[in-house]
Amino acid sequence: MSDVSDECDVLVIGSGSAALAAALRCAGGGLRVTILEKTGRLGGTSAMSGAGTWIPANHRAAEAGIADSEAEALDYIRAASPSGWQETEDELWAAFVRNAPVMLRFLEQRTPLRFALTDEPDTMAEKPGGKKRGRMLSPLPLRKSLAGRYARRIRRSTLPHLYTYQEVYDGDLYHRPVSATLRFAHRLVWRLLTGSRAQGSALVTGLLAGCLGNNCRVELNARAVALCSEDGSIVGATVERNGNRRTFRARRGVVVATGGFEWDRDLLGKHFPGALDRLGSPRANEGDGQKMLAEAGAQLARMDQANVYPTMPTIYEGKLHGIPLIFQAEKHAILVDRTGNRFASEYDFNIGEAIDRRDANGNPVHLPVWIVADRRFVRRSPTLRWYARKQKGWLIGAPTLASLAEKIGVPAAPLETTVARFNSFCANGRDLDFHRGESVWEAFKAGGAGAALGTIEQAPFYAMSLNRSILGTKGGARTNANGQVLRADGSVIAGLYAAGLAMANPIGTRAVGPGTTIGPNLTWGYICGSSLLSDNRG
Ligand SMILES: Cc1cc2nc3c(=O)[nH]c(=O)nc-3n(C[C@H](O)[C@H](O)[C@H](O)COP(=O)(O)OP(=O)(O)OC[C@H]3O[C@@H](n4cnc5c(N)ncnc54)[C@H](O)[C@@H]3O)c2cc1C
Repeated sequence: MSDVSDECDVLVIGSGSAALAAALRCAGGGLRVTILEKTGRLGGTSAMSGAGTWIPANHRAAEAGIADSEAEALDYIRAASPSGWQETEDELWAAFVRNAPVMLRFLEQRTPLRFALTDEPDTMAEKPGGKKRGRMLSPLPLRKSLAGRYARRIRRSTLPHLYTYQEVYDGDLYHRPVSATLRFAHRLVWRLLTGSRAQGSALVTGLLAGCLGNNCRVELNARAVALCSEDGSIVGATVERNGNRRTFRARRGVVVATGGFEWDRDLLGKHFPGALDRLGSPRANEGDGQKMLAEAGAQLARMDQANVYPTMPTIYEGKLHGIPLIFQAEKHAILVDRTGNRFASEYDFNIGEAIDRRDANGNPVHLPVWIVADRRFVRRSPTLRWYARKQKGWLIGAPTLASLAEKIGVPAAPLETTVARFNSFCANGRDLDFHRGESVWEAFKAGGAGAALGTIEQAPFYAMSLNRSILGTKGGARTNANGQVLRADGSVIAGLYAAGLAMANPIGTRAVGPGTTIGPNLTWGYICGSSLLSDNRG
């Protein structure tokens, strides 16, 4: 390689949860690590996130007296994942459940991060190995100053990180923002005074503090544009910065953890055809990693998988953006597809998977999708009214269902029949079509099985699009259980690792728990780091 301007043991491309976990693991083991971040902000989508972190058989659950094991977690992932996935993903699932609890302890030992259990159950807790509590965690608040000179460089979120993940639910921030703020006022004031934040801000602060404490070097505004190879091994990357190109050489290897490709219009259009509402991640997530990996000979897989989640419109960095909120799971609302029919329980955590359902040719079956609600849906939520103002025309009102149907281009007669049928379920206390509110997850979210049902009958009626919103695509390089990148023939590309959303994620659109991107991403970063520590190619 010519013009080498930097040498390290491990080059980590990206600065989200997967990247920083990999960097920390390597640096904690004594390797010299350089972290490259394309933007002027650290943390990527991970910093914006709620940092809901799904880790089975973790020590916090054990301390709370909750029994869990690797074997139960593996049984659960096998039972809860889409059919056919076990064939290709089983080895990766096993590596994940083996490493996840070790990774969590490692983070608490090597960083200021402290995780607390949240109350949430697994999303399909009734499946074999499922748990009603104990696998979901989120970080407690941390002072951003722990990230030293990078404290002001942590990417800000669309979510209110003054609150912890659990406080958002305990205070019912969505319906009662004022009373939630008053309830936690003393804590919030303390956090404001001390510059402390929770959720993804805390996660990235803690990870950065650990990385900096272990002498990782951080390069901002440094966009990797190509991987460098020598004799079939990856030995570094070409990096663009302020219009100049430099080469970073890595003695042991390169970890690609550059997030998803959702902001690349062509890639997104190819793998996610059909209506799309909004994206929730930073605009820099343009699939650079996936492109570099493919160029280096990696097999790309799971490119049609993503974190598909309901969002409301908001403004981020001056442009229209999605803020993730499960706002469709409300009493006086249903989801209908283009035919005017319901197609899933609105309270299902994996409603994104249902919205994104495809036919044999990969085309969406239901899109466009609409929330149809009555006046009580809007009246109950100041949050909805606040965000609806951010995108003119999103919230559509009409005096009758027939006129609403006409406005949104859905056939009126089926819509009226659907609403009448749903209203009859409400009267009888049971959703015979999709069992809304009945699963462990749905009853937990609704506050009891019957509490999920409420008629749609009071004018005005409202509709809002609820097409796919994507928080991060989940397709990328196929890897083995060590995080090493594979070619299509199954051989390893020496020196090349991928983690997080840049890998072909073994947990795809269907989330087996809330927090099943951050938890696995941290774990895959940790696994890549462990492999690099033991893979001394000299
Ligand atoms: C608001 C919000 C809330 C969420 N809440 C949760 C939650 O509670 N639990 C959960 O599990 N998931 C959550 N998610 C999803 C989760 O945050 C993401 O899936 C996850 O953070 C992705 O992690 P990552 O490390 O793969 O990528 P990212 O965190 O996106 O990091 C990728 C980084 O790589 C950088 N990069 C890209 N290209 C290059 C390049 N060429 N060179 C150098 N750097 C590059 C990017 O700028 C970015 O900083 C949420 C998402 C959003 C938007």
